[in-house]
Order: sequence, then C-alpha cells, then structure tokens
Amino acid sequence: MLIGHYSVAFAMKRFEPNLKLWWLFVAVQFVDILFTLAVFAGLEDFHLVWELPSNPLDLYYMPFTHSLTASIGWALLGFLALRHTTDLSRNSCVLIALAILSHWFVDLPVHRPDLPVYGNQLKLGFSLWNYPLLAYSAEIALLLGSVVYLATHSSSQHRKPLYALGAVLVLIQTGVTFGPVPTAKLVITASLLINFLLLTFLARVVDVRQNA
Ligand SMILES: [Zn+2]
Repeated sequence: MLIGHYSVAFAMKRFEPNLKLWWLFVAVQFVDILFTLAVFAGLEDFHLVWELPSNPLDLYYMPFTHSLTASIGWALLGFLALRHTTDLSRNSCVLIALAILSHWFVDLPVHRPDLPVYGNQLKLGFSLWNYPLLAYSAEIALLLGSVVYLATHSSSQHRKPLYALGAVLVLIQTGVTFGPVPTAKLVITASLLINFLLLTFLARVVDVRQNA
C-alpha cells in the first residue's frame, strides 16, 4: 500500500490527540523509508516487471525492512528509542511502535507474495495489486474513512487542514496508480522517499495549525 498506510496514522491520532501527526506519518511508513535507504545502500533490491498490474514492482529481496520478524524488531527499537530519548508518554510510544508494525499488516492484502515472515523466507501477500481498480479503491476508501473519522472528532477550524492533507494523499495515489512510472529504479526509489518526506512535512504543518 501507499497512502492506505496513513489511515492508521489518522485513526491513532483520534485515539491519542496529543500525539503529533507527523510522528505517526513517519511511523506508519518507517519500514518503507528504510526500504528506500536500503535500496540506495545496495542492501535490498527490486526488479521492474512492466507486465505487472497496478505497479511494476517485483519486490524480491527486502528481508531487513519488510519481513515480519524485522518489522517486530523495528517496532521494538522504535519504542525503546522514543522511551529513552523523548518525553513522550508510555502510551504514545506504544502507539508509535504499533504504527511501525502496522506497515506489514497493511501491506499484506495488496502485495503480491513478496512479504517474508523471516529473512527472505515464507513470503505472503494476497495480491490485490493484481486488480488495479480494487487496490486503488481500497487505498482511497481506507484513507478517506480515517480522515473523515478524525475530522468529525476535531474542531471545525481544524478540519480544513486535515481535508487538504487527505486531498494531497488522494492525488499522490491517483498519480502513482494511473500516471506514468519512471523507468529507472533509482528514480522510483528517490521519488518514493521524496513523497514520504513531503507528506511528513505537510503533517507537521497540520500539527502546527492544530496547536495554533
Ligand atoms: Zn512497504
């Protein structure tokens, strides 16, 4: 999934309003952010197979970021790091750890069987990506549902920035699903990372607006 991951962030923000949305935005995509860095470092890799529906990604090697066991490890590491280096409450740290772990489970329905349980073994994925319209609709439905859920529990002046952020997310997903795909692997990887950073920045803007 791409923007579907952020639905977990919006839902958790409703659950713990004091938690900054941008922390949650980093957490739900932490595994993918690591993946882009691992690809740049040559530690993980993917092939481009242009016949594949939805996207050309054949994610054949991502044991360090996207295996279930690694995801549990990243979540635990996130919890311990935040607990010891920030003044976030225990609940907030638990929620951020769960947001990191959520990535694997939200990826599971859409990915082709490329999500390892451990190492590069026992790969799972329910392949919704093979049905592009269904996969796209699932991303949009999850995202819009969570934005509306959070917005209806926010004050009226806080709703606008949330809806604006939701609209940007929908635009990005629409562009990724139906727009042209760069032909170079490193350009795809870089544009993913830029998207994650841009969206984190926009979530930070929403946080600032909420505290204004
Ligand atoms: Zn992922």
